[in-house]
Amino acid sequence: MPEESLLEDAIQPQRWFSTLPRPEYAALPKIETSEPWFEVYQLPGNVMALYEPGHFQEVISFLVLGSDKALLIDTGLGIANIRAVVEELTTLDVVVVNSHTHFDHIGDNHRFPCVHVYNHPHAIKRLGDGMEPDQLSVHLRGDSIWMPVPERFDPEAYRIPACRFATIEEGHLFDLGGRRLETLYTPGHSPDSIMLLDRENRLLFTGDTLYPAVLYAHLEGSAFHTYRKTMARIAELAPQLDRVYCSHNTPVHRPQFLIDAAAAFEAIAAGEADYKLDANGIRLYSFEGFAIATPDDERVLS
Ligand SMILES: [Zn+2]
Repeated sequence: MPEESLLEDAIQPQRWFSTLPRPEYAALPKIETSEPWFEVYQLPGNVMALYEPGHFQEVISFLVLGSDKALLIDTGLGIANIRAVVEELTTLDVVVVNSHTHFDHIGDNHRFPCVHVYNHPHAIKRLGDGMEPDQLSVHLRGDSIWMPVPERFDPEAYRIPACRFATIEEGHLFDLGGRRLETLYTPGHSPDSIMLLDRENRLLFTGDTLYPAVLYAHLEGSAFHTYRKTMARIAELAPQLDRVYCSHNTPVHRPQFLIDAAAAFEAIAAGEADYKLDANGIRLYSFEGFAIATPDDERVLS
């Protein structure tokens, strides 16, 4: 049953940044770099989180270190130079992969010689075209950015250049020397979403399919039932994991989060969850520690 109260904006509340800094970061060792736009944290399992708290998305890219190579999972917003930061953090050769091709994960792709991406027409078009200011200006509206941006970043000219890329399939292994990450195709949030599984170290990188905030199942390209099936499949991995690393707001979560999110999708599909409607016609289903945004359309959900 819907609750009647109408939310103004389920996705980006006014003064969203008033909740920062998030307390979870106080427990993580911080690594200083020359670029204040990024906050870098050391995570368990020889992984670094490159967090961009200055923009509403609070996106997190990950640098996973092996003995021969490092894997950079996503390249952030493209507001500051992530490649320069990565080169301060490691001398290893860096392989780059996108968890999916939403703007906040591909911003600095163009600074690298090649980016791996899931073999889907949506991803191929997005990386081949790049994104122009008219597609990106919506992401700079209002109070989207609250921290000072690097001097050379011009919000008016914000664009994401096309990049060189190589496509990967389900099961593709990134061998970094002493550790391997396996590609899982996990559509739903977007049609080109992947997760990366490090079986030996019992870690799962979830991309945008799971994080502790509003999960987007309302976007063009999102698909509620596909998302639900993905979560049901991925939740089965929980007993094999010690931690899940998520791409927004805070990085480190318990594997139980996978199970809770899968149950939430099932509850929505069964018509057993309450929601609020926002002024843009988006349903917001709230759960403990996260929420799910969907279209206001029973045909999509049931
Ligand atoms: Zn996304």
